[in-house]
Amino acid sequence: MKRWQGLFWMALLLAGCGAEEPVFETRFLAFGTLVDLSISGAPRAQAEAAATAIEQDFQTMHHLWHAWDPGPLGRVNRLLPSGERFAAPPSVLALIGLGQELSARSDGLFNPAIGGLVDLWGFHRDDPSQWTPPDDDRIQAFVQQLPSMADIETDGIFLRGANPRLKLDFGALGKGYGIDLAIEHLREMGIENAILNAGGDLRAIGSRGDRPWRIAIRRPAGAGALGIIAVSGDEAVFTSGDYERKFEHQGRRYHHIIDPRTGYPARGSLSVTVLHADATTADAAATALFIAGPDGWHALAARMGIRYVLLVDDQGAIQMTPAMAERIELLAHPGPVQISPPLPAAEAPRHP
Ligand code: ADP
Ligand code: MG
Repeated sequence: MKRWQGLFWMALLLAGCGAEEPVFETRFLAFGTLVDLSISGAPRAQAEAAATAIEQDFQTMHHLWHAWDPGPLGRVNRLLPSGERFAAPPSVLALIGLGQELSARSDGLFNPAIGGLVDLWGFHRDDPSQWTPPDDDRIQAFVQQLPSMADIETDGIFLRGANPRLKLDFGALGKGYGIDLAIEHLREMGIENAILNAGGDLRAIGSRGDRPWRIAIRRPAGAGALGIIAVSGDEAVFTSGDYERKFEHQGRRYHHIIDPRTGYPARGSLSVTVLHADATTADAAATALFIAGPDGWHALAARMGIRYVLLVDDQGAIQMTPAMAERIELLAHPGPVQISPPLPAAEAPRHP
């Protein structure tokens, strides 16, 4: 009797495992946000070892690419405005190359060379009480001399800045590129099914057992999810929103995504979600399309080769591409939902 009971419980346990693939989950802090790593279909010891390595990767990247702490990017930022030729630290060369390419493709709306402007708004200080609007004169002076990624001359590992206002800020790219590198590392460690999620921006590979990963898209200005996207295979989902770093001053709200054409926080969008094959492109594109806004995002998405876009405008209305509409399961939404004309099928190639 005992023996039969044992077999019964064993069968129940196995049935349970079949229904719900065990997922290893871990969480750590990097890039100023919580990073969640979920791994499915790997033995626990292998998943734990991989998680330790990935956490180390993130701490390293955080240090290497920090725009205002001392470190390699800090050194580049001291040398670029001087106009002198110097040997760049290898750890930032790839980001500069990607930044140049993606900035050009976004017509300069994604512009990681405007760190000086982001700094003027106070966002390079950790203490939010120091985030405050600068004098308009200073903004206009900056925009008159607007630095761009094309102002960085590259010659192998040597760089020379051609604009005294150059200061690199990879806040809109580093997370994406870091996730791409970490996904490659996970695969090298034999992990085929995982989600790497940095504060809602993520890339998913493989699946969760025999089901796709289900990704919640954050609702701007409020708790809860706007919708769910099923991802299986390999895809990145990135959202740029006005809610990440923001402050209020004399009754007006300001946020951290700056329109390089005006020098002021971009107007018109509350959030933009992009799906793409790689996180690097998705990160830069979400920022660029957010700035392009309700009237400009469609043309820019076509130029950048982005097929899946969802934008929430400042009236709470949703605009999305037909491809996105097919993929997203929208949860209750109070505002209007408009499907855009389709975008050309040609998608930007996968980075890096
Ligand atoms: P999130 O933090 O919501 O993921 P983004 O990926 O859009 O947002 O990155 C925003 C950050 O990028 C800002 O905090 C700032 O450091 C930097 N940034 C602001 N404006 C621009 C811009 N026009 N181009 C590139 N980077 C920008
Ligand atoms: Mg971004």
